[in-house]
Amino acid sequence: FEPWNDPKAKPYIRIVNVTKTFGDFVAVDNMNLDIYQREFFSLLGPSGCGKTTLLRMLAGFERPTSGRIELDGVDMSTVPPYERPVNMMFQSYALFPHMTVEENIAFGLRQDGVPKEERNRRVEEMLTLVQLTKFGKRKPHQLSGGQRQRVALARSLVKKPKMLLLDEPLGALDKKLREQTQFELMNIQEQVGITFVIVTHDQEEAMTVSSRIAVMNHGRIAQVATPTEIYEYPNSRYVAEFIGDVNVFEGRLSDVAPDHVVITSAEAGTQVYVDRGTSAALGATVWVAVRPEKLDVSLTAPEQPDFNCVKGTVWDIGYLGNLTIYHVRLADGKKVTAAVANRTRLRDRPITWNDEVYLSWAADSAVVLVS
Ligand code: ATP
Repeated sequence: FEPWNDPKAKPYIRIVNVTKTFGDFVAVDNMNLDIYQREFFSLLGPSGCGKTTLLRMLAGFERPTSGRIELDGVDMSTVPPYERPVNMMFQSYALFPHMTVEENIAFGLRQDGVPKEERNRRVEEMLTLVQLTKFGKRKPHQLSGGQRQRVALARSLVKKPKMLLLDEPLGALDKKLREQTQFELMNIQEQVGITFVIVTHDQEEAMTVSSRIAVMNHGRIAQVATPTEIYEYPNSRYVAEFIGDVNVFEGRLSDVAPDHVVITSAEAGTQVYVDRGTSAALGATVWVAVRPEKLDVSLTAPEQPDFNCVKGTVWDIGYLGNLTIYHVRLADGKKVTAAVANRTRLRDRPITWNDEVYLSWAADSAVVLVS
């Protein structure tokens, strides 16, 4: 499922040169973005980067100051929210406290004058979808946070929208429940087969659920790509640092070939080899980004010839159970983070505070960034 790589696939949503200003503040800055049918698309970015504003424009609650939004080939500029084949689920869920679960889900259908029999059938269908068949007669206050979230989801889907917009849908749930609910949400999205666009500032959540992620920065898109691409091949320091942890070494390009480059980095205290080309020219300032889990930590110099290697001193160790995090200080004071999977038993892990260690990584497990 990669319609964005298929030149014949037609985007379901087209955001074309969209700008949204509030007074002289630019919340969304000349944005272009295509989203395809059945995608689970995430808008990810720090607070204030314009995610919610974009979502509200898709819903029709806000109008672009300039540019246009097309849905299934139709310009939505003059189409009011209630006439769009779109529904929005809010973080607060906004369930009616005095109504039962069934009544909450049926509310929209009742307003549309859907006959009772069909209404009941569709409510039943939704209760099955969100696995709440036994909870139809309860009131919202008799439900857990996760169950309330599912009622809100059922209510958003019962009118069969073509697209569901979700604003921080799992924000109110605790970590464990949120992780579980992410998988439920993916399952439900697959079953109903519609496009989900979700706003989140939780990177792990975006990584877990998304077909693609747009990482936003000050009203602009920094990168749009699959979770793997965003994580493994970020296009800038901003994206690399926003998604997960990363070590960045500044340096100068001292050799450029189509399939590899060499960077001379005072920060790393050595030359760094990267098995990948770059658009930057010889002599340019670039940054090498290496994820902590790509680093090996060892008391002896590694033997792999195609590995980069730097030496440092362990100044902090964080034991996370599944991982151990080593903070290592290099000769010039630069701090590097390595995350090592705890596959061996405790007594087989000899590295400790103040040890001199070798950090090494394969030439194909880093990226060169030009900005
Ligand atoms: P968060 O994660 O905190 O919700 P966000 O990325 O969703 O942030 P938006 O809510 O889209 O950010 O807001 C983007 C910027 O636009 C913010 O600086 C906000 O203050 C501003 N903004 C949003 N709505 C309005 C409005 N109605 N009037 C004036 N400024 C607004």
